[in-house]
Amino acid sequence: MRDFSDLVYLDNNATTAVAPEVLEEMLPFLRDYYGNPSSMYDFAGVVGRKITEARERVAALLGARPDEIIFTSCGTESDNTAIRSALMSRPERTGVVTTRVEHPAVKNLCEHLASRGTPVHFLPVDSLGRLDLDQVAESFKAEPAVASIMWANNETGTVFPVEELAQMAHEAGALFHTDAVQCVGKIGMDMSTSAIDMLSLSGHKLHAPKGVGALYVRHGTRFSPFMIGGHQERGRRGGTENVASLVALGKACELAARNIALENGRVAALRDRLERGLLERIPQAKVNGDPEHRLPNTTSIAFEFIEGESILLMLNEHKICASSGSACTSGSLEPSHVLRAMGVPFTSAHGSVRFSLSVYNTERDIDLVIEKLPAIIARLRELSPFWPQDACKVVA
Ligand code: PLP
Repeated sequence: MRDFSDLVYLDNNATTAVAPEVLEEMLPFLRDYYGNPSSMYDFAGVVGRKITEARERVAALLGARPDEIIFTSCGTESDNTAIRSALMSRPERTGVVTTRVEHPAVKNLCEHLASRGTPVHFLPVDSLGRLDLDQVAESFKAEPAVASIMWANNETGTVFPVEELAQMAHEAGALFHTDAVQCVGKIGMDMSTSAIDMLSLSGHKLHAPKGVGALYVRHGTRFSPFMIGGHQERGRRGGTENVASLVALGKACELAARNIALENGRVAALRDRLERGLLERIPQAKVNGDPEHRLPNTTSIAFEFIEGESILLMLNEHKICASSGSACTSGSLEPSHVLRAMGVPFTSAHGSVRFSLSVYNTERDIDLVIEKLPAIIARLRELSPFWPQDACKVVA
């Protein structure tokens, strides 16, 4: 295996490192306590009690009741479950309202539903990635069963006013689901005073392992299960529990509750230092998204006239990890659907790089990017047939 000990990892919206405390807590449930939580003996009871504790920890982070938490296999499953459940359990209403900038977990499901005849309204965004609330109100006139609108965008970090949107959905008689995969643990939330009906989260975005998630469903909300099988999750999601991962998610939520202040203080300051350092040194570079309402850990920067993929490859030479748009769309050279929906010009959308930080990043990480990236951009622009060669030079 290659040595990645000096890695500079700035791709935390793609996935995060499992926190050491989380790993520690989950290991006994892989190694020692392997009982099926549904069994009757004490050996299984230990496991069942730990799942109860994990559920309480997830609920505490959200300000929810433990019985409002359904464990799932990932954020994608949570999103699919929420939207399908709303459609199944409210047949008297028609369709879904969503946005053009959702993660594929919502966007592709909605496109699939639309191709099978479900009315779906995809709301546009402006050049900063913001919704127009008049257009939202207009879309609700079609009496949708559910509005599914993300809390924070995975590519730009732009945060939508979900409480206001949830209120509007209710006034129009629709349920409100939000994909909060990118903001759980970064933004404080309290479901006990919120209008949100359903909320998705994913373990691997908050220092738990991949392959575990949860769906919050407000008490009293009509619910139709997606995974039908055993009695697990009180009949709301069949399948023997992924015990060690549920334990991990619980611990990660406990840590996240403690780290929110750190995210909004130190992590946001590091992100701002990175952004300032790059914008000062690199001409024709611009931040994508809403500078006022965004996640504390994310910046998406467009470097004009070059390919984001080439930037990533050259950063990779310095063991710096970032992303050009959503991880799920990398591998394709199409500009991201989010930047396209914002009307970011083709020449900027192609050269956009997302840096997403975590509590594990240091000033050294940031300063290394500020040191290396200007020269990388200058080199790529020299090679670019689109870069006006007499344009102002990069300040090295
Ligand atoms: N929603 C958003 C906003 C995401 O960023 C992601 C993952 O990148 C998902 C949903 C999907 O989560 P998972 O990878 O757990 O299926």
